[in-house]
Amino acid sequence: MTTLAIDIGGTKLAAALIDREMNILDRREMATPASKTQDALQGCLAGLVAPLTTRAQRVAIASTGIIQNGVLSAINPENLGGLAHFPLVEVMARLTALPCIAVNDAQAAAWAEYRSLAAEVSDMVFITVSTGVGGGIVSDGKLLVGTGGLAGHIGHTLADPNGPRCGCGRIGCVEAIASGRGIAAAAKGELAGSDAKTIFARATQGHPQANALKQRSAQTLARLIADIKASTDCQCVVIGGSVGLSEGYIELVSTFLGEEPKTYRTQVLAARHQHNAGLFGAALLAQEAMP
Ligand code: ADP
Repeated sequence: MTTLAIDIGGTKLAAALIDREMNILDRREMATPASKTQDALQGCLAGLVAPLTTRAQRVAIASTGIIQNGVLSAINPENLGGLAHFPLVEVMARLTALPCIAVNDAQAAAWAEYRSLAAEVSDMVFITVSTGVGGGIVSDGKLLVGTGGLAGHIGHTLADPNGPRCGCGRIGCVEAIASGRGIAAAAKGELAGSDAKTIFARATQGHPQANALKQRSAQTLARLIADIKASTDCQCVVIGGSVGLSEGYIELVSTFLGEEPKTYRTQVLAARHQHNAGLFGAALLAQEAMP
């Protein structure tokens, strides 16, 4: 059975055909529509999946935001504005005429990464550092979703009570500081208006402000990992997302984590499935839900 897996992020949309052995047969990507209205997102998704649908038997969606009973609600409207209540499963089932499931993207990615770790790992946490900061927790071999789908939204834990206001409404969330959007929002002077990718490229060239922004993101993430270790006693943390997987970022996070007391340290690994972790996780969860 072939799954049409779809990953909905704040910056990009990806879709792939994944077979039973978890091989990617075809993969497409496009930018998330700038307007982020229901109609715009639906239109983009229709175009993205059109060339893939006839070869699939089911659809598995991994999306940023809270997913409950197949409905997407954006926790940070700045990442997926206008999507307070988007009936994702209903829309995609209608569009493709295929059975469909939907899960949070970081929860899905956590499941894919957990399944690729050694059998002795029963407790792990996945963190995506991308447009936002998302997470997924596997505890005692089980993916935590929560009663309302909120479990693992660790990007909205407190990093700095005097920090910037997050799009979710809280002040000083990890996401408001460490994410791609948070990094870009803090840029000043000649870096103002640059995205995180450009800022990190400038950091590599030795630009002091760019370097400080990269360090601030990595240090915030290291403190989050120490908090996660204290609350879950995980055996490792796996990092994904384009900011998280950028060159030298995990090494920097590990260096900052090394400054925390030993009790709060844990192994920090790069996502084995790289940018496809969400797609693989959704496909795996669909395979388990609809064998
Ligand atoms: P999504 O949030 O849609 O899942 P990504 O994981 O690609 O997408 O994250 C997008 C964010 O990552 C943007 O803020 C972008 O500027 C940033 N980004 C992309 N490539 C890099 C890079 N090489 N270094 C640092 N940041 C990057």
